[in-house]
Amino acid sequence: MSVIGIDFGNESCYIAVAKAGGIETIANDYSLRGTPSCVAFSPKNRMLGVAAKNQMVTNMKNTVFGFKRLLGRKFSDPQVQKEIKHFPFRTEQRPDGGIGIRVNYLGEDNVFSPEQITAMLFTKLKDIAATALQTQINDCVISVPSYFTNAERNALLNAAAISGLNVLRLMNETTATALTYGIYKQDLPALEEKPRNVVFVDFGHSSLQVAACAFNKGKLRLLATASDPQCGGRDIDAALAEYFCQDFTTRFKLDPRKNQRAYQRLLQEVEKLKKQMSANSTRLPLNIECFMEERDVSGDMQRSQMEQLCAETFTRFERTLRAILHNAKLRPEDIYSVEIVGGSTRIPAVKGLIEQVFGKNASTTLNQDEAVARGCALQCAMLSPAVRVREFSITDVQPYAVRLAWEAARGEDTDMEVFPAFHPAPFSKMLTFYRKEPFTVSAYYSDQVPYPDTFIGQWHIRDVQPTPEGESQKVKLKVRVNIHGIITVASASLVEKKQDASQNDNVEIENSNETVNSQEAPMDANGASQEQQQNGPDNQEVREDEMKGEPQQKQSWTQRVGQWFSGDKSKEKSKKVLVKTIELPIDARTHGYSQQELNGYLEHEGKMQAQDRQEKERADARNALEEYVYELRGKLSEGETLHDFVSEDQRVKLVAQLDALEQWLYDEGEDQNRQVYSDKLSELRTEGEPIKQRRLEFELRPGALDDLALSI
Ligand code: ATP
Ligand code: MG
Repeated sequence: MSVIGIDFGNESCYIAVAKAGGIETIANDYSLRGTPSCVAFSPKNRMLGVAAKNQMVTNMKNTVFGFKRLLGRKFSDPQVQKEIKHFPFRTEQRPDGGIGIRVNYLGEDNVFSPEQITAMLFTKLKDIAATALQTQINDCVISVPSYFTNAERNALLNAAAISGLNVLRLMNETTATALTYGIYKQDLPALEEKPRNVVFVDFGHSSLQVAACAFNKGKLRLLATASDPQCGGRDIDAALAEYFCQDFTTRFKLDPRKNQRAYQRLLQEVEKLKKQMSANSTRLPLNIECFMEERDVSGDMQRSQMEQLCAETFTRFERTLRAILHNAKLRPEDIYSVEIVGGSTRIPAVKGLIEQVFGKNASTTLNQDEAVARGCALQCAMLSPAVRVREFSITDVQPYAVRLAWEAARGEDTDMEVFPAFHPAPFSKMLTFYRKEPFTVSAYYSDQVPYPDTFIGQWHIRDVQPTPEGESQKVKLKVRVNIHGIITVASASLVEKKQDASQNDNVEIENSNETVNSQEAPMDANGASQEQQQNGPDNQEVREDEMKGEPQQKQSWTQRVGQWFSGDKSKEKSKKVLVKTIELPIDARTHGYSQQELNGYLEHEGKMQAQDRQEKERADARNALEEYVYELRGKLSEGETLHDFVSEDQRVKLVAQLDALEQWLYDEGEDQNRQVYSDKLSELRTEGEPIKQRRLEFELRPGALDDLALSI
């Protein structure tokens, strides 16, 4: 079994694999390490990755890209509305408010969700890895922008599930990069020393992510993140394209904005020009042949001009750099180095801004394209028993403040912040409620979230009843940021104590298989008044050991040692208490597909894969026949190897037959099923193989080649 890491980028994806000898990235069927995030449809099959991108300009309406940004969003979302304006393919609102992508596939209109399209790309990535590694792929770690919200993360998990991938972790992209940086560093400060602070800047195709991270030997701890989901290399492409649109309109009376195909070609050309400008500050030409109305166009640009045209992007870039200093509470001099990854950090102006803000050169220790995938593969290896890698402790952060709201036992609704922004993650908090009846809690993000809806989820806790004495029951909710960065109410349990009449309201530290973060746990609940306890829960913080995955729930009588605090912490004493924990059923309403929907999509994806396979077999059979025809005819011709190993009569007849077959392949033979081609091939082989055999036998005879030379 192999463990892989996937960097799912807006523009391209990278796959890395953890092996005993280290981490490697995997090349695809075109020998490229980057696979375009592109999916296309035709009357016969789907094209995925490179094949999709290659035919984009000739099949614009059915070539889908840019879908990472659509995951988990509604059609009416302003950001989605902005995106779809630039798509050459059709999108629409689905009955549930989600996004539908309408394409012509197998000669019919089909509407796919962004999750399904993403699943198609993942299917391809899985296939690339399986071919390269000659093994089945299931377990993986997939990268996700650190700014992704619950809805987007759930959508990504759904997409992976549809493709049959088992995601051990959704890993924040900058955290994956930080792991790649840290794991092989031999000179990190010892645990008791001051940590080394490193800033990571990932400037990609459509987004910018920055993270500040503290390293010690064997461990990394994210301090904060800052990002701009709307700032990336494509904004530079758009600005350059806009310039040339105006230029061409003036000089050639051709406006590419009025022609999607021309505009897409222009985008591809300005991207090339942009990359050249990163290495070259002189004036560079842009030439496109047969651009519009069968006319050629040309223009030019130099770096300084590009920098002016893209001033807004650079301003936003700088703003995010300053934000990381603020969020992480670091001064430039506290930072050991600034490591850059992502294609757009190759731009000289970007490096210049880093130097300006942090007072040090951008460092290129990491492979700019592969660092994220490598980190994911490392994390996957750590989480999987299949491969052993060096241990490294990772503490991530939750980027937005999260509030929990509930109905108070009496009166007003109320809420509290359960996780402030940049709280460590994964993490669980135990909240204790006193209730006589079922109740509901809801979670929300703070307003800063780059998502139109702050709603995270709602959980209804069932089966809560008063005690036989008519009193409130103690109900513990475990609210957690899980290993994927998803916020959830993981469990609710009713806690009954057998020997304990007087100190019912104390907080108890439980020795579950999560480790207690004693520094952060506010444990003195006695200070809280009864009223506060009725309305607000007690808090207990539990830091999860992120390597262990989901802790098991208990539902039995357990004997535990409880530590008691009676107002004054100095009077702590230990006492044995019998605790009965009863798991309560929860009805959850959150983002993402239901199991039933997922099953439907899984089945559909399976059918499409079968169709692709069938089409591939058909095409392979046709190619095999075509190849045989050409090969045999070539060898039968004058002066070639088989010419003299068949009677002239038979040779002429056979060549005529081959000519006819060639003709057929381009006529009605263009589109036959696999069997037709393989039957024809077998038939042909009964004629061709004996001739080849005669030649072979001849060659094997001693001195055969001399004879042949003589006979020619
Ligand atoms: P994202 O991280 O936004 O999801 P991604 O991971 O697919 O997207 P990357 O592969 O990191 O993005 O970067 C792709 C971007 O980098 C493209 O916009 C590309 O034009 C740009 N890029 C690549 N090389 C260069 C270069 N030499 N100079 C300027 N820009 C470049
Ligand atoms: Mg990226």
